[in-house]
Amino acid sequence: MNAVEHDSRHAEQQLIVDRYRPLEELGEGAFGSVVSAWDTRMQRRVAIKRIPFPLDSHGAPSVPPGLAEARTAAMLNNPAIVTVFDFETDSDEAFLVMEYVEGASLAELLAETGEPLNLDEAAAVVDAIADALCFAHENGVLHLDIKPENVLVGLDGRVKVADFGIAELSSLAGHGAAFGGTLGYMSLEQLRGEEVSEASDEWALAAVAFEVITGDNPFADSTIEGAIRRITITGAPSVRTYDTRLPAALDDVLFAGLGVEPAERYPGVAEFADALLPHLGDARAGRASLAELVADITGDEPDAEDDLVYLGLWDRLQGSGGRVLVQLVAGAEGGWLAWAGLSAVQLPTIALWAAIALVAGGAFLAPALGLVLGLLCAVAGAIAHGAWALAAALLLIGGSWWWLFGRQSTGAAVLPLSAPVLAAARIGFLQPLIAGFTLPPLGAAIAAALGGALTMLASAASSLGAPYIAVAPSTALRIWTLGSAAERVVALASSPAAWIALLGWPVAAAVMSWLSSRATRVWAAVGALAGAGVLGGAYLLADVVARTLSQQAGYESVLTAASLAGSLILMWLACWAGAPLRPEEEDPLSVAARRREDH
Ligand code: ATP
Ligand code: MG
Repeated sequence: MNAVEHDSRHAEQQLIVDRYRPLEELGEGAFGSVVSAWDTRMQRRVAIKRIPFPLDSHGAPSVPPGLAEARTAAMLNNPAIVTVFDFETDSDEAFLVMEYVEGASLAELLAETGEPLNLDEAAAVVDAIADALCFAHENGVLHLDIKPENVLVGLDGRVKVADFGIAELSSLAGHGAAFGGTLGYMSLEQLRGEEVSEASDEWALAAVAFEVITGDNPFADSTIEGAIRRITITGAPSVRTYDTRLPAALDDVLFAGLGVEPAERYPGVAEFADALLPHLGDARAGRASLAELVADITGDEPDAEDDLVYLGLWDRLQGSGGRVLVQLVAGAEGGWLAWAGLSAVQLPTIALWAAIALVAGGAFLAPALGLVLGLLCAVAGAIAHGAWALAAALLLIGGSWWWLFGRQSTGAAVLPLSAPVLAAARIGFLQPLIAGFTLPPLGAAIAAALGGALTMLASAASSLGAPYIAVAPSTALRIWTLGSAAERVVALASSPAAWIALLGWPVAAAVMSWLSSRATRVWAAVGALAGAGVLGGAYLLADVVARTLSQQAGYESVLTAASLAGSLILMWLACWAGAPLRPEEEDPLSVAARRREDH
């Protein structure tokens, strides 16, 4: 996979508000959609309702009126209400982050079984919705969209009501269905756009009760006029027309709850439930049998979650914090290149610092652009020293880097340049491991090859004991300015041993990338070990070849080994902090899609 593809997949994988990783589309409602997501901070599954803002007269999204009220309403805390953890907004939509109820909606349950609930199950459902509504009404909140889709039944058979505060928001925002509710569950006053009250929720609960008992909603219609006619003229039939075994007393209570005018209904949801529940079954037994029903219709299909490995640190670095970190590294690299290159050119001090600030600032704001400016500074420095071969090598390496990475992916762009600096800190071998940890194999290999080449240039210029890896800190900083570098570049390029050592870098990165693609900590750690093994092997072989060809001893293998060990240990620490983020292999949405196809 090339860098472009990698980057676009990355974009798809964007965390919602820098925190929630989308997993699976759960459904689309009257407005907005619901996805399940992984909360990378709390390490739990959540459901997120995305509510797009309406467009204003200029076609720009605008914060709808009633958002603050919706937030308050959504935050109700009760066992029969789906808990809302968070209510976030960005420029064009709101995100309602809620408890994920694993199970099914009452609507799915009725549709899948194709039959009404038994009286125990009906008792469990009515009891829970009534509890939720009573609690909300005591807190001055109306639901206004009570319907089977908004009643969720968990795997344990517990019933919870979702979407408090949403109906009002949707009607204020001018979305979809009339007055926020749903035809078939909207009382007459709500259909007519008259004043709604607790009695409107009571009517909707009565309609849901009627439906779970009989399997039918006699008020459902495709138009508002039709729905009004069904309430005012047709009315609901006796429950005994559906099943003669049902108690006749149910009719009186249901018809009262379904009273055309609010004043004809029970004074509150509590009174309605108190009147209805004695004619239904045992709510406790109902929960147990609902649990069985839910298990039947969801099957033993494991959650998409089981397939995923959750990533802690690296997932979080994907958010804005991680972006800023990478931008800081890019800024530092840009400034360093500008300084190292331009200090060789005779510039007035003030102009030198202005140029450095410009390139560093540019690299921070737009890493791809800033780093290419930095590269040009380095080339200018080499030319100023008459090191034409070095200038050509820099242009070639830098140009291919720009083409493959610099333009497209900020994270990958900063990797090659980091290698000589890490090498100056005696942990140069960390670079191919990081590349393998963060990039797919091909991208990792190229980033590591470029990093290796730069490190070797710096190492040759440093003339420390261990060739190809040991870099003197002063050289790492001033590599481009070394007048003698030209012959060294040539000497390096004509040494077979150097090529063998260099080959170790991309191979190690690719091996690391491939092994850690399973995205678990253990595999990442194994990958780091294997990558370090490849590097060690390549450098050992280079050593043997160099000795054989030039009968030259004096390789400081201890320094090389120490650098390798230090890099490996640091990489292991990074693996321990979290498995790598590898969206292209671990795309949860595609896992979910595959699952659906398998079914
Ligand atoms: P409305 O927009 O009128 O509420 P709706 O309920 O059909 O219509 P959404 O609220 O967008 O649509 O919900 C879509 C589906 O997502 C629901 O039917 C339900 O199955 C599922 N869902 C919603 N909230 C959760 C949740 N907290 N946990 C699990 N599934 C949920
Ligand atoms: Mg809903």
